[in-house]
Amino acid sequence: MLENIIEFFKNLPAKKCEVCGQEIEEQHECYGNKCDFCNIL
Ligand SMILES: [Zn+2]
Repeated sequence: MLENIIEFFKNLPAKKCEVCGQEIEEQHECYGNKCDFCNIL
């Protein structure tokens, strides 16, 4: 069943940074909707 969960996340659309629109590859929920670069600004 773990593989099904992995497939589920693979099929999710890539998150995009709400500031610059860059796709966010990290899966960390704590990053919110900002990319690494915008996060540190
Ligand atoms: Zn950004």
